[in-house]
Amino acid sequence: MKLMINVGGKGKRLMPLTKNIPKPLVKLNGKPVLEHLVEWAKESGITEVVFLTGHLADKIKNHFGDGSKFGIKIEYSNEDMPLGSGGAIKNARKFVNGTFAYISGDLYTEVNLKKMIQSHKNKNAIMSVLLHKSNHPQDSDILQINDNEEVVKFISKHDDHTGAGEMGNAGLAIMEPEVFDYMKEDVFTFETYLYPKLINSDKFVHGYVSEEYTRDIGTFERLLKTEKYMNAEGAIFLDRDGVINKDKGFTHKFKDFELYPKVKEALRKLAKANKRTIIVSNAPVVGRGICTEDEFRIFHYKYINYLREIGGKIDRAYHCFHHPYKGKGKYKKFCYCRKPKPGMLLQAAEDFPINFKKSWMVGDKRSDIKAGQMVGARTILVKTGENGKGGSTEIDIKPDFTAENLNEAVDIILENLNN
Ligand SMILES: [Mg+2]
Ligand SMILES: [Zn+2]
Repeated sequence: MKLMINVGGKGKRLMPLTKNIPKPLVKLNGKPVLEHLVEWAKESGITEVVFLTGHLADKIKNHFGDGSKFGIKIEYSNEDMPLGSGGAIKNARKFVNGTFAYISGDLYTEVNLKKMIQSHKNKNAIMSVLLHKSNHPQDSDILQINDNEEVVKFISKHDDHTGAGEMGNAGLAIMEPEVFDYMKEDVFTFETYLYPKLINSDKFVHGYVSEEYTRDIGTFERLLKTEKYMNAEGAIFLDRDGVINKDKGFTHKFKDFELYPKVKEALRKLAKANKRTIIVSNAPVVGRGICTEDEFRIFHYKYINYLREIGGKIDRAYHCFHHPYKGKGKYKKFCYCRKPKPGMLLQAAEDFPINFKKSWMVGDKRSDIKAGQMVGARTILVKTGENGKGGSTEIDIKPDFTAENLNEAVDIILENLNN
């Protein structure tokens, strides 16, 4: 499969850095952004890329040539006048020989492209677009999806955002050649022009949701944030009930907090390895009205301190109090924190420097595994607790490893830390 990379951006917001060098050659962690993308493409099994060039095209050609130095075949589609992101794709039509991918050249991404391509095929989509939760939905392009992950509505950043949701377009798409039938103009913006046309057709537009790290480096602030992310250590995310303590249902009292055998040893090993350890637990006991937030806080305080007293290095515990159906009042909602949604892991990465690619998620339910996969962490399913049975209707979720219990999971993590 070919990958088109739009490398024509002017990089106005990175001036004066981009006065003489094109944005894709701006260095990220010591290496041009575009080299990171080329490496990612190779890891994803892509052997041919097409650079969509415009502004300062010669500098990019001089750097990359035909790609042989980088172990990949590179072709160039140049525009003589600015065609817009969509026009640049149409202009490169002659290079297309089947399903193809497209990404903007100012992104750093860790998306598992193979998995996204598989999802695209499974959905029989004309186009699949990468979606993730936007930090600033009010001034972003938003795509609404239904339960089948079909995009049903496009809300441009200039439109009224009432009820729009928060899933933003991340600059990566997989397309079938049929998309060219919908490109009637020659100069146009990819998103605003093509999304509405495809959504309103009878074709399936797939919203592929993933929180694997994908950010543009279009401003100094984002460039530095991405470098910080790349250089951060991983964290060990642990589910609580069924992994650390016996799942007695609706745990909310310290007297019911009973550890599994060897949990103490497991936590001590993690502490000795100085791994950042974070608990992420669905705790709808509050939302269901079984206990109050204050009562839960006491339980939270007691169990965390107990785990620390026995030698664990617990950096923090996050709890989701919501439930989509059984929550009461403000707790009844489809939140982004209840696993399998990855919101608690994302919050942890706001609060601590955490690199997800170097991170692990250990859980006893498929929803734990799914949450870990959503951010690109490696995953271990333990056979204690639910042993992978409950928590999600999705049966195709496969962990990277399975372990008898937390202690064995920790051994797996420590053995695989450096690969
Ligand atoms: Mg559990
Ligand atoms: Zn929640």
